[in-house]
Amino acid sequence: MMTKKDYDLVVVGAGPAGMTAGMYGVRSGLETLVIDKGISGGMSNEAPEIENYPGFKKVKGMELVERMKEHVAQYVEIKELEEVERIELNAKEKQAVVFTEKDTYVTKSILVSTGTRHRKSGVKGEDDFLGRGVSYCATCDGFFFRGKSVMVVGGGDSAAREALHLKNIGCNVTVIHRRDKLRAEPYLQKKLMQADVTILWNSVIKEIMGDNIVKTVVIHNKDTGVEDELPVNGVFIAVGEEPMSKLAAQIGVSVDNNGYIITDKSQRTNIERVYAAGDITGGVRQIVVACAEGATAALSAYDDLLAS
Ligand code: NAP
Repeated sequence: MMTKKDYDLVVVGAGPAGMTAGMYGVRSGLETLVIDKGISGGMSNEAPEIENYPGFKKVKGMELVERMKEHVAQYVEIKELEEVERIELNAKEKQAVVFTEKDTYVTKSILVSTGTRHRKSGVKGEDDFLGRGVSYCATCDGFFFRGKSVMVVGGGDSAAREALHLKNIGCNVTVIHRRDKLRAEPYLQKKLMQADVTILWNSVIKEIMGDNIVKTVVIHNKDTGVEDELPVNGVFIAVGEEPMSKLAAQIGVSVDNNGYIITDKSQRTNIERVYAAGDITGGVRQIVVACAEGATAALSAYDDLLAS
């Protein structure tokens, strides 16, 4: 596919939302381009198993992404490994210019689907041992910990899924959660219990320690106040996500108190011809929702361009 420089719709972020928007954009007759600083799929690539995307009883995140990409690429060009550095809006010309590290694109509308990144836990030693026992992705790094002891930090869907994946590949898994209740969906909680994963309730890691690699963690029990140093080989941190909305905020797109982009039901933002879709809009962060928002956003762009 030949790259043009003038577009009707430029989609920033090639996760499930951005890929779907690209396909819907082209199918609506819009000259559309999708750009991503990394590879297509974003964080969906990290999902060990997805069991709630209709049509797939069980599929690895990477496989679902690959299938989406193969399908979507029949319609739209996806530029990977090309970071968008800046967007300039020209309200008078009703145009935007997208500056990437490699090129410049002029477009009549923009969809921001830049997703989220892993939130850090803020525990002492987290940064020092990154890649040397500390990880944010069991699918990527779990293999190295087979037969070893790992701790998963967090009580949401991600923590439960990471713990189950690590258990499945043969790790000795302990989940550590700061409260006495998980927020993971009940189905996942049941699977955790069935898998006999140990959970340390009302507890937090105070420090991750080791020499070249992680050796121990200091655990603080909030009920008893007792601190213990426990041996572990790996610490998987799954304490939620943060929106990557800096680019959007720079052009004046409204975000909420947590940095998620505010949209209406048609995925329009406060700025004319700027749309947002997927995890960047917060709410129920699910692949199926991201795809739906991407489709809606592209159709809104089509409607708005038609009306102009
Ligand atoms: P989340 O639901 O926000 O859960 C984060 C967990 O980490 C919470 O249990 C929280 O504790 C804990 N936490 C936060 N900061 C902490 C800190 N500094 N130290 C220790 N613990 C900390 O995040 P998530 O699990 O990544 O899920 C994010 C979204 O993606 C959710 O909407 C989820 O449904 C979705 N998701 C879906 C799937 C799926 O299979 N459908 C898979 C993964 C994620 P508290 O409970 O005390 O707040």
